[in-house]
Amino acid sequence: MTELPSDYHRRLPYGERMSAEPLQGGPFFPFEGDIQVVPLADPVLPEPPRRGEPGGDACPKCADPDGFVIWRDDQWALKAGFQLSGLPMVALLEPREHYRLDNLPPELTATLGPMIQRVAGAIQRIDSVGRTHFNRWGDGSEHFHVWFLARPAGMMQLRGAMIAAWDDMLPKLPAEEFAANARLVAAALAEDGGEAIGLGRH
Ligand SMILES: [Zn+2]
Repeated sequence: MTELPSDYHRRLPYGERMSAEPLQGGPFFPFEGDIQVVPLADPVLPEPPRRGEPGGDACPKCADPDGFVIWRDDQWALKAGFQLSGLPMVALLEPREHYRLDNLPPELTATLGPMIQRVAGAIQRIDSVGRTHFNRWGDGSEHFHVWFLARPAGMMQLRGAMIAAWDDMLPKLPAEEFAANARLVAAALAEDGGEAIGLGRH
């Protein structure tokens, strides 16, 4: 194993299975019955490159800047429809240029907050939506991106982080319905600037 870099790492029980018990029965946990957690894997250090990093695969956003874009202005683009969705809307907000969070220039950090508010508000226009979650993980691609996941109104089991798992498990939206939702979101954003592009290119 790689030399462990911290006391935190040295404490962890590699190869063992954690218990799922702390999660089971909780209001946000979508599984019941006998659940086997995968064995805890050794750390991989240095970490393998993400897409868009030196030595990694090409950045998908920079390789296809307009792919699945439903709205854009000169700084930001919103992407949707790149995978079938079980939620009324799943969208990605990305800067037009390739930046990470830590090197995002001031002109983009200044508009990130307003953009999050605008995108969440636009997704909220979809009649089935109760609340719009947003998350930045960034473990797959280096190009900065914020996920937006629309929680259907009243679906209280979908509260919290497991909404991403529910998105994979729920019946997929019909393509026409998702396209109509995407057009609505793009048009709502365009009311305050930028350009609606419909469902984007497939
Ligand atoms: Zn990029």
